[in-house]
Amino acid sequence: MSNLRDVDPEVWALVQQEEVRQTSKIRLIPSENYVSRAVLEATGSVFTNKYSEGYAGNRYYEGQQNVDVLETLAQNRAKELFGARYVNVQPYSGSPANQAVCHALLEPGDTLMGLDLRHGGHLTHGWKVNFSARYYRSVPYHVNTANGLLDYDALEALAKEHRPKLIICGATAYSRIIDFPRIAEIARSVGAYSLADIAHISGLIIAGEHPSPVGITDVISTTTHKSLRGPRGAMIMTNSEELAKKIDRAVFPGLQGGPHNNTTAAIAVALKEAATPEFREYGRQIVRNAKTLADALVKKGYNLISGGTDNHLILIDLTNKGISGKIAARALDLGGIETNYNTIPDDPRRANDPSGLRIGTPAVTTRGMKEAEMRQIAEWMDLIIRNHDDETLLDSTRNEIASFCEAFPAPGITM
Ligand SMILES: *Cc1c(COP(=O)(O)O)cnc(C)c1O
Repeated sequence: MSNLRDVDPEVWALVQQEEVRQTSKIRLIPSENYVSRAVLEATGSVFTNKYSEGYAGNRYYEGQQNVDVLETLAQNRAKELFGARYVNVQPYSGSPANQAVCHALLEPGDTLMGLDLRHGGHLTHGWKVNFSARYYRSVPYHVNTANGLLDYDALEALAKEHRPKLIICGATAYSRIIDFPRIAEIARSVGAYSLADIAHISGLIIAGEHPSPVGITDVISTTTHKSLRGPRGAMIMTNSEELAKKIDRAVFPGLQGGPHNNTTAAIAVALKEAATPEFREYGRQIVRNAKTLADALVKKGYNLISGGTDNHLILIDLTNKGISGKIAARALDLGGIETNYNTIPDDPRRANDPSGLRIGTPAVTTRGMKEAEMRQIAEWMDLIIRNHDDETLLDSTRNEIASFCEAFPAPGITM
């Protein structure tokens, strides 16, 4: 990046420091990943210079000879990979994608149901300060706090009582398989649309590690930057021509102007990478790693919500360890392991200092870490959590982890 260095040494230096930070620590934040050099290059390409409001063949600007081909390529790759008939690749990110789905299917004031944020749902599934509860009537559903599993019977009863127009499923902190057919059936029985938000698990779905909602729920939304390992962006899919038209109109001109064509280019690249046998194996290893890490933590006396994991994610209840999620996350970060604090279902503590810690394996699996490394990570996590006040120990662990990480190069970063 010699040009950046000359033009803006300040930003260049921050990029260098961020590369070091991302490679010298163990990244367990379940929504993060490392994209390939090819995805980075596409993101940084001249497609960032182009305006293309509208859709292929029907744009409001001239000069679309390459953008039309590019966007159609990204759509076709997504259709093939997910088996969906219609795909919109223009949403700027996961939250705008969900906003577009609501805009397409609902009128202001209509009722929607989503998993409560404090039980693992996303902000855009009806959290009180979000657009999804400000412009729509939000009725949250919950997990069963006794076992941490989605309570489908309670959801069905709530749906019968409130007759929503849309039921959203999908999560940011749920470690088990989501029963898409059951949710779709409940939605159908009350005349609601169903939306599966697979932001976290789309890579696992492609790899065959989680059942797909395509052809089951009416609409599917996903980010492209989590387990799918692409640029920061999103897609909306459906098999219904009627819904596809509504969704296209909701994205543009309903909510957005010009699509980010450089992101579209990088999405196309990521989808090509995700169509390989290597990516299938990647998905399998993500789950094997998560299960190994979960088992190792349980052996050390950690309580996991739902007792374990079927996917890439683990939600730890730290209550019995006498430490809050925030203090643990802070100490882990100082010790070389990035995680994030998170509420647990019915958390007695405040959301900005909750009882839980959320971790996941997509990023470490991208770096080639396997079961043995997961057991080592559990050792370090336990050591840091038990000694979270010991600055000398945090320093030495951080150094030890930095050397350990050298054996696992991060794609896209040449150190
Ligand atoms: C990450 C996430 C989103 C939002 O994506 P952003 O790109 O951060 O806006 C939406 N839904 C779910 C389930 C997510 O995990």
